[in-house]
Amino acid sequence: NQTSSTRTTQQWQQLDAAHHLHPFSDMGSLNRAGSRVITHAEGVYLWDSEGNKIIDGMAGLWCVNVGYGRKELADAAQKQMLELPYYNTFFKTTHPPVIELSHELAQLTPEGFNHFFYCNSGSEGNDTVLRIVHQYWAAQGQASKRYVISRHNAYHGSTIAGGSLGGMGYMHEQMPSRVPHIVHIGQPYWFGEGEGQTPAEFGLARAAELEARILELGAENVAAFIGEPFQGAGGVIFPPDNYWPEIERICRKYNLLLVADEVIGGFGRTGEWFAHQHFGFKPDLMTLAKGLTSGYVPMGAVAIQDHVAQTLIAGGDFNHGLTYSGHPVAAAVALANIAILRDDGVIDTVKHDTGPYFQKSLREALAASPIIGEIQGHGLVAGMQLSPQAGSQTRFENGGDIGLICRDHCFANNLIMRATGDRMLLSPPLVISRSEIDELVEKAARCLRLTA
Ligand code: PLP
Repeated sequence: NQTSSTRTTQQWQQLDAAHHLHPFSDMGSLNRAGSRVITHAEGVYLWDSEGNKIIDGMAGLWCVNVGYGRKELADAAQKQMLELPYYNTFFKTTHPPVIELSHELAQLTPEGFNHFFYCNSGSEGNDTVLRIVHQYWAAQGQASKRYVISRHNAYHGSTIAGGSLGGMGYMHEQMPSRVPHIVHIGQPYWFGEGEGQTPAEFGLARAAELEARILELGAENVAAFIGEPFQGAGGVIFPPDNYWPEIERICRKYNLLLVADEVIGGFGRTGEWFAHQHFGFKPDLMTLAKGLTSGYVPMGAVAIQDHVAQTLIAGGDFNHGLTYSGHPVAAAVALANIAILRDDGVIDTVKHDTGPYFQKSLREALAASPIIGEIQGHGLVAGMQLSPQAGSQTRFENGGDIGLICRDHCFANNLIMRATGDRMLLSPPLVISRSEIDELVEKAARCLRLTA
């Protein structure tokens, strides 16, 4: 009859190891080491079952934009659960929270996004993108436009469609049945792949790969290009400035839909509501999740430009939907979350104050670090490239190991910083204060010193 609150850390770890398969984990080594048990959180801090206070440099998984412990979100969920905990929108019904959320999103998204399709995650959002893209061309009698072009090292989720759209080799290896008609071009990762070229030359060269692939496949067979405005899980890779305008030009020239996967970039991460606004291009579709509800409850969405929405509407039945599409509780939480982001000026603060302060502090603190090759980022997101020769493009021979060593130092020092290969990533809650940024940067610098 033991309740979970009376268990010891060891008991929790044993039960976890006995019954819980973790995502993206090597369960053998995880079970030997024992998982860290996170019990509660407030603001930008987490506490584990041993009472350690941990600063969360990753906003959970890039999602807790308004920080932990926001009563407004809990209240919105409770109120909605008591009023109407569930109803669907399949069979000629709708409900106030989903109507209000759609109206709200139409106000705050850039011009022309006036329709929204809901799901439960970023992965399902990208599944939905694929369905919309194919339906859009089929409805216009151009069903041959079927190929979707994505990029190596992109992350678009872990469903079969999300994983196929993504460009993670280690995922593709375990997916013998990937979705067909998806091809990948090079990523705009100048530090790692642009040797001998200026960032501007490299940006154009990588965008030119899109045109080359369209010509190879035939524009009449290509439906869309999808990309994260900055690559998140791939290592916080910010493309050269000329990359996105050129990608946009090519998509328009060959009549492709341009899809921005805003699952990480959306809802303020770069100091704009959506990251494509930072890079200055206009997508036809946007995938949204994470910051839509700040992770308090699952919700994803696809934002749809008018010309696509009108084509879908004119095309008759769209045979796609999920039991929880537009879930009322998730919609109510999303509304409360958006109210905080907007009314508390959270995104403005990221743009004008905490974002620039974070970027400057990080660069200053790591200026003398012997293992930083470069730092990328804007607003409250940063990627730090580890290199055996500071300030150079030289790579560690076994890159992944150095990242994991650094991550272990972070773990021991009560800092959550993510490692992806030989890049260390930070993406804290958007409500982080200047003094909390000082603490975050100081801890990150200390852990990087320990790694060097
Ligand atoms: N797209 C991007 C850019 C992401 O970063 C992620 C998750 O990290 C996804 C899609 C998938 O979202 P989810 O994990 O909610 O399915």
